[in-house]
Amino acid sequence: MKTSSTKKPMRTCVACGNNDAKMGLVRFVRSKEGEVSCDTSGRLPGRGAYLCADEACLTKAMKQGKLNKALRCQLSIEDRQRLEESFRDCCQLSLAK
Ligand SMILES: [Zn+2]
Repeated sequence: MKTSSTKKPMRTCVACGNNDAKMGLVRFVRSKEGEVSCDTSGRLPGRGAYLCADEACLTKAMKQGKLNKALRCQLSIEDRQRLEESFRDCCQLSLAK
Protein backbone atom coordinates (compact mmCIF):
# COMPACT_ATOMS: atom_id res chain seq x y z
CA MET A 1 0.00 0.00 0.00
CA LYS A 2 1.49 3.25 -1.10
CA THR A 3 -1.02 5.85 -0.08
CA SER A 4 1.64 8.26 1.10
CA SER A 5 2.89 8.96 -2.42
CA THR A 6 -0.20 10.97 -3.25
CA LYS A 7 0.43 13.29 -0.33
CA LYS A 8 3.55 14.80 -1.83
CA PRO A 9 2.77 18.08 -3.56
CA MET A 10 3.81 17.93 -7.16
CA ARG A 11 5.91 20.79 -8.38
CA THR A 12 5.60 21.46 -12.04
CA CYS A 13 7.60 23.87 -14.12
CA VAL A 14 5.19 26.42 -15.60
CA ALA A 15 7.25 26.66 -18.78
CA CYS A 16 7.91 23.08 -19.85
CA GLY A 17 5.55 21.16 -17.59
CA ASN A 18 8.37 19.03 -16.34
CA ASN A 19 7.90 17.88 -12.80
CA ASP A 20 11.15 16.11 -12.36
CA ALA A 21 12.18 17.32 -8.94
CA LYS A 22 15.67 15.97 -9.33
CA MET A 23 17.09 18.92 -11.18
CA GLY A 24 15.61 21.37 -8.76
CA LEU A 25 12.89 23.88 -9.33
CA VAL A 26 13.05 27.53 -8.44
CA ARG A 27 9.99 28.93 -6.73
CA PHE A 28 8.58 32.31 -7.61
CA VAL A 29 6.18 33.86 -5.23
CA ARG A 30 3.80 36.79 -5.41
CA SER A 31 3.24 38.48 -2.10
CA LYS A 32 -0.11 39.90 -1.17
CA GLU A 33 1.31 43.32 -2.03
CA GLY A 34 1.72 42.06 -5.58
CA GLU A 35 5.49 41.90 -5.52
CA VAL A 36 6.98 38.93 -7.34
CA SER A 37 10.28 37.52 -6.21
CA CYS A 38 12.40 34.41 -6.30
CA ASP A 39 11.86 32.39 -3.20
CA THR A 40 15.18 30.91 -2.22
CA SER A 41 13.90 29.58 1.09
CA GLY A 42 10.79 28.01 -0.41
CA ARG A 43 8.82 29.29 2.54
CA LEU A 44 7.62 32.72 1.53
CA PRO A 45 3.88 33.14 1.83
CA GLY A 46 1.86 33.95 -1.23
CA ARG A 47 0.95 32.50 -4.56
CA GLY A 48 3.78 30.43 -5.94
CA ALA A 49 4.93 29.12 -9.29
CA TYR A 50 7.80 26.82 -10.12
CA LEU A 51 10.36 26.89 -12.88
CA CYS A 52 13.24 24.57 -13.67
CA ALA A 53 16.57 25.92 -12.55
CA ASP A 54 17.21 26.60 -16.20
CA GLU A 55 17.28 29.97 -17.86
CA ALA A 56 15.64 28.55 -20.97
CA CYS A 57 12.53 27.85 -18.94
CA LEU A 58 12.50 31.33 -17.45
CA THR A 59 12.77 32.90 -20.89
CA LYS A 60 10.02 30.68 -22.20
CA ALA A 61 7.76 31.39 -19.25
CA MET A 62 8.28 35.13 -19.62
CA LYS A 63 7.82 35.17 -23.38
CA GLN A 64 4.67 33.13 -23.33
CA GLY A 65 3.26 34.95 -20.35
CA LYS A 66 3.11 31.73 -18.38
CA LEU A 67 4.65 33.21 -15.30
CA ASN A 68 2.14 36.06 -15.30
CA LYS A 69 -0.65 33.57 -15.67
CA ALA A 70 0.61 31.25 -12.96
CA LEU A 71 1.04 34.11 -10.55
CA ARG A 72 -2.01 35.99 -11.76
CA CYS A 73 -0.20 39.25 -12.12
CA GLN A 74 1.37 41.51 -14.67
CA LEU A 75 5.12 41.65 -14.85
CA SER A 76 6.69 44.89 -15.97
CA ILE A 77 9.96 45.06 -17.87
CA GLU A 78 11.63 46.08 -14.62
CA ASP A 79 10.09 43.11 -12.81
CA ARG A 80 11.34 40.76 -15.49
CA GLN A 81 14.85 42.08 -15.35
CA ARG A 82 14.90 41.89 -11.59
CA LEU A 83 13.52 38.36 -11.64
CA GLU A 84 16.02 37.25 -14.25
CA GLU A 85 18.83 38.38 -12.01
CA SER A 86 17.52 36.78 -8.86
CA PHE A 87 16.60 33.69 -10.84
CA ARG A 88 20.27 33.24 -11.74
CA ASP A 89 21.20 33.47 -8.08
CA CYS A 90 18.48 30.96 -7.22
CA CYS A 91 19.73 28.58 -9.89
CA GLN A 92 23.20 28.66 -8.48
CA LEU A 93 21.84 28.03 -5.02
CA SER A 94 19.58 25.23 -6.07
CA LEU A 95 22.25 23.55 -8.19
CA ALA A 96 24.77 23.83 -5.40
CA LYS A 97 22.52 21.90 -3.04
ZN1 LIG B 1 11.09 23.78 -17.15
